[in-house]
Amino acid sequence: MKDIVLSGIQWSGKGTQCELLLKKFGNKISYFEAGWILRALQSKPNAIWKYIWSIIDNWNLLPDQFMVKIFDLFLFSLEQNKSILVDGFPRQIPQMHAFLEMMKTYNRDYKTIVLDISREEAIKRLTSRRMCKTCWAILNTNLHNCDKCPICDSIDIYQREDDKDIVSIETRIDLFENQTKPVIEHLQKEGVITVVNWNQSPEKVFEDIVTVIES
Ligand SMILES: [Zn+2]
Repeated sequence: MKDIVLSGIQWSGKGTQCELLLKKFGNKISYFEAGWILRALQSKPNAIWKYIWSIIDNWNLLPDQFMVKIFDLFLFSLEQNKSILVDGFPRQIPQMHAFLEMMKTYNRDYKTIVLDISREEAIKRLTSRRMCKTCWAILNTNLHNCDKCPICDSIDIYQREDDKDIVSIETRIDLFENQTKPVIEHLQKEGVITVVNWNQSPEKVFEDIVTVIES
């Protein structure tokens, strides 16, 4: 099985698709997601986290080189015969150059899959997003009855402040379009990309992704 690089704007349903992929392919794949690794580092005191903290006070400002080193370490310590699932990396052009070089060094063969949704769709998804205060489930007014949490039955459901603010939403989309879109376009020129259109159910999207992976 080839490696998979899954790319897409934050609200493209990337997280859900990664969960489904991990469920289906189990121990055949190892998962790389920057946020997850950072949270794991943060959870107990250690030298790497102290180092990160000494140079940043905002996760968005984490230097490219640092992410690249973490990814290098991930590839270096990877068990033999395992494929990788990379979520949300590379995000910017400098990261991408380093990424391409490392994949070559470690002799990795991969497919990039993009979950493509329109700007309008991204805005619609964000403004309809709700969160359960009890179990932190992410809900959507288009998909769920948001009077009561379908997971834990709590009625304590709210909308995040930054999801109410259209300016903040537009800023986050712009960031993706200015920094990550060029990465996707560049990878597209290398001929390693497959776009899975979003305008269908998560189950159908998953089917399409699996077809791409198994082809
Ligand atoms: Zn809940």
